Amino acid sequence: MTPSEFILLTKNVSKRYQNNGSDLLALRGVNLAVRPGEFVAVMGPSGCGKSTLLHLLGGLDSPTAGEVHVAGQRVDTMKESQRAVLRRRQVGFVFQAFNLIGNLSVADNVELPALMAGLSAAEAARRRQSLLEELGIAEKAHSIPSQLSGGQKQRVALARGLVNRPAALLADEPTGNLDSKSAGEVLALLRRYHHQGQTILLVTHDPNVASTADRVIYMKDGLIRDETSLVGSHNPQAILSGLIQLEV
Ligand code: ADP
Repeated sequence: MTPSEFILLTKNVSKRYQNNGSDLLALRGVNLAVRPGEFVAVMGPSGCGKSTLLHLLGGLDSPTAGEVHVAGQRVDTMKESQRAVLRRRQVGFVFQAFNLIGNLSVADNVELPALMAGLSAAEAARRRQSLLEELGIAEKAHSIPSQLSGGQKQRVALARGLVNRPAALLADEPTGNLDSKSAGEVLALLRRYHHQGQTILLVTHDPNVASTADRVIYMKDGLIRDETSLVGSHNPQAILSGLIQLEV
């Protein structure tokens, strides 16, 4: 298993948080390998370490032990400045809370990461225009986030996450704040980008959301306990069986 075969790879990763003198082992030796173009969902009960794993893969934090590789680059030994470059170029993030910049227009929210990654203003604008068109929100380019619905905000966040054509899109409960219709639309968009070859890692506690993926990983107490392949049958029932076996 060489790191370059995988877009996302962790080897025996652990993460210890220290809070007011008390220690918490959030991850205890996680081995995960995501191939180019795969769509993987990570499930498990609250507090099992899903978001921590996503943060380590996105270079937002570093592990206490073990290796993290993204697009063939070793991340856990990087300095913060190198991780910042990785975050701009190799990963796109979509969060439950959208995390848009409230006083910037939709267009500027999408173009900003492209400009920060060194693209020309013309190229940033071209990519923003084409993503907003694909996502069906081109007419909102000059609105500010507070003028948008939840579903529209998450589309903007998706455009922002994809503007640098990242090796991996990392999504943490991307439908958690949406009504079921908007959630379905955002999932359909994720599927569409996946079919175009985008590698996606999605954290969720919702079997219906996870059923969009090709493979579901189940975590419990900071470890990956099991996984289910959904290739050919995107059936939420298969996921429920996996959860029941783990008693989560
Ligand atoms: P999940 O995403 O599965 O709900 P998390 O990765 O958010 O789980 O959290 C795993 C454990 O680590 C939880 O017990 C949580 O309280 C703890 N934790 C997460 N982030 C921090 C932090 N920054 N500082 C201290 N403890 C944290």
